[in-house]
Amino acid sequence: MVQEKITAIVLAAGRGARMESKIQKQYMVLDGKPLIYYALLAFENSAVDHIVLVTGAGEEEYCREEIVKPYDFSKVTAIVSGGKERYHSVYEGLKAAEGSDYVLIHDGARPCVTPKVIQAAIEGVREAKACVVGMPVKDTIKIADDLEYAVSTPNRSKLWLIQTPQAFSYSLVRQAYEALFEREDNLEGITDDAMVVEQMTAQRVKLIRGSYKNIKVTTPEDLTIAEKFLQKRIDN
Ligand code: C5P
Repeated sequence: MVQEKITAIVLAAGRGARMESKIQKQYMVLDGKPLIYYALLAFENSAVDHIVLVTGAGEEEYCREEIVKPYDFSKVTAIVSGGKERYHSVYEGLKAAEGSDYVLIHDGARPCVTPKVIQAAIEGVREAKACVVGMPVKDTIKIADDLEYAVSTPNRSKLWLIQTPQAFSYSLVRQAYEALFEREDNLEGITDDAMVVEQMTAQRVKLIRGSYKNIKVTTPEDLTIAEKFLQKRIDN
């Protein structure tokens, strides 16, 4: 049997402006460790073969010396610098993951991801070629107009909150991103990878259940919640 190669791309090149902190979000200390440590640990303890870490420009050396080496993340085989928008950073990660059969793209700002969720994404991508982790929404969601008046209320039973990892066959997602950059205009509003695959290919994207704990640390209150989840961590 030919061995398949699975690579995780962990994104940590954002500026984290909504955190309003002098220290960049990915290096803020959470329960004694830098935030980015937790996602790297989950992937290190999963079935992925390699991890590509995407950092801010000029932060590669810092990440290698202060995070990857001290915590012995042996699966991190490349550290590359990202770009202005998330989709630029993903593309840099994809180039560094050349030769993979599958890639799992993950927001480094989601420290509560677990090997169990990662395994679900691996099984999902083997079956469906494209899958994203998410959870059904709990709240009612409204579409608003520019003046913040409600315009409509989509049927809640069909709405999901989308998380990461987002997992794809490598050739599929690479082609989707190349087609996206050829399009050049209208890249605004591209906030996840599934959107790129949905818009640029005919491939359907499967939604698989992750965990309500797999939050993205974006604003200061998220740090408190994530820290609590990490302290009580059991693999769910
Ligand atoms: O900005 P957003 O919350 O969507 O960021 C999600 C993830 O993408 C974060 O882990 C962030 O570090 C990463 N990102 C990136 N490069 C950018 C913007 C965001 O790697 N230019």
